[in-house]
Amino acid sequence: MMLKQIHRLRLSLAAKCQLLFGAAVILIIAAALFVPWQRMEQLTQQLNERTAAALARAAVTDHVRAYSLGKPQPTVPPPSTRPAILDSQSWLPPRLVGLEDAASMTASTHFDRRAVQHFSQEPASDSYFKLYRRDDGSLGYRLAKPLYNTESCVACHAPGSAAASTAPIRVGQAAPVWAWPPAPPVAPPRQSVATTQAGRLLGIVSIDIPSQIEANQLLLNHIFLFSAGLLAGTLAIIVLYLIITQLILQPVRVLQETAEKVAEGDLNIRSDINSGDEFEQLSQTLNTMLSNLKEGEDQLRALNKNLDLKLEQMSESNVALYESNRLKSEFLANVSHELRTPLNSILGFAELLRESPGVRFDAKCERYVGNILSSGANLLDLINDLLDLAKIEAGKMEVRCEPLSLADLLEGLCGILKPLAEAKRLELEPRVAADVPIIQTDPAKLQQVLYNFLSNAIKFSPEGAMIDLIVRRQGEQAVRLDVVDQGPGIASEQQEVIFEKFRQIDGSATRRHGGTGLGLAISRDLVQLLGGQIGVNSTPGAGATFWIVLPLRIESSSQDVSKRNSRPGDTQRPAHT
Ligand code: ADP
Repeated sequence: MMLKQIHRLRLSLAAKCQLLFGAAVILIIAAALFVPWQRMEQLTQQLNERTAAALARAAVTDHVRAYSLGKPQPTVPPPSTRPAILDSQSWLPPRLVGLEDAASMTASTHFDRRAVQHFSQEPASDSYFKLYRRDDGSLGYRLAKPLYNTESCVACHAPGSAAASTAPIRVGQAAPVWAWPPAPPVAPPRQSVATTQAGRLLGIVSIDIPSQIEANQLLLNHIFLFSAGLLAGTLAIIVLYLIITQLILQPVRVLQETAEKVAEGDLNIRSDINSGDEFEQLSQTLNTMLSNLKEGEDQLRALNKNLDLKLEQMSESNVALYESNRLKSEFLANVSHELRTPLNSILGFAELLRESPGVRFDAKCERYVGNILSSGANLLDLINDLLDLAKIEAGKMEVRCEPLSLADLLEGLCGILKPLAEAKRLELEPRVAADVPIIQTDPAKLQQVLYNFLSNAIKFSPEGAMIDLIVRRQGEQAVRLDVVDQGPGIASEQQEVIFEKFRQIDGSATRRHGGTGLGLAISRDLVQLLGGQIGVNSTPGAGATFWIVLPLRIESSSQDVSKRNSRPGDTQRPAHT
């Protein structure tokens, strides 16, 4: 958990390594030093205990011997009998403290009272000790051992016997009163009063000696241990730091610098690591990647250069194309215009000739004049179409917007086309929905589109068929006009093609009816000029429905669309549903 948190810290790798390894080294050395530290404490303790226990044993033996000889034990042993270690008067001699003494504040020390309390509460315990610091700064050691009642004690210490302190004990009956580990308290025999007291805690023997290891010595030992740990830790951290820096951090830094240079865009840089380990492999892999990257970049640059060149050439040829297209449109417009004037006079004079009352034609001449008139009319249609197309492509077709009643427009159109329809006994049926409003559009252009739709429908419908002209609202902002016929229909793959210039469907019907293949292309451009959409729905054999959707009012951007559309390669396809 803590490792993870350190791992996430925003620190350099070197700082993280130092932090983690430093902590690990301190922990390991502390754990390693804990054992000798403990052992040292134990040894001090054992030395003190052994010495104090020997003194205690001697004191008890002296006590028993003194009473068995009838000599009461002196409270303070004479200097000759004092143990060598008690070289100062300030140390208390070994003392046997009875329970009554222990109860008195004057005859016992605080330690004695605590010891008696301890043995009373824990009869199985065989010693009570304390290491303490004396006023002069030295260390002292106090030990208390329990004294249990034995038969030999009873002779003197039984209640009711002679004064306990002076009662003589016969030598022969003297049983060992002192033995460690002490015999567990014996269940008292029932026969006599004295024996019922056996095994009872009589008191303690209390020893107070200077600690066998001086405080300074102990402190010195601690300082030695601590210094050894510190030295070992510092050395370990330094060595680890050097190893990490040399083996890990330095190659990582080299790799990092290389990566930074690459990020700045320098692909010629290479990392140079010769450590013979994984870092060298990593460096080699990085260098290979860089070489590949450089190679790819060079290739890409070459390709880009090529592409730039091609793009330049293309834009040049595009400009040339646009220019020649403009010239072509201009030429077409001029030529069409120039052709129309003589053609109109040819048609006019042919008409005059046929209707002139003074001129008499035989049947043959009548047919010739008829041919001149019909071929001339076809040529005029073609020239008009070409002129329209040229105007649209040159962006010179102007939109004149005015309010228009679609019902009136359809009525007029039907009137114009009635003779053609009647020639094939076709029924023209305009139907305008009641909610269709007056719209704002260019009537002439809309009429031209609808005329084209209707004349095609008349051309391709079988005799006696019906042609519907349906107008209805489409949404809030548009109207939809459908011209539905019962002709041969158009295959789905042709439905887009017929809106292109000079495109006609192969087939006997088209051949029979002639035409230029320009009508729908012009219609598409005109509808776009009006801001609408054009399309056809048809199933071959089941007639066709040519439709347009027009906005209720033309938006200003629609003219721009037509201008854009006039540029080469930028034509928009009609929409089909
Ligand atoms: P044109 O009629 O002068 O050939 P258009 O652009 O008006 O040129 O029509 C292109 C072609 O689309 C026609 O030649 C014809 O093959 C097909 N077409 C147009 N209208 C219909 C229709 N109502 N039914 C079947 N085919 C049609």
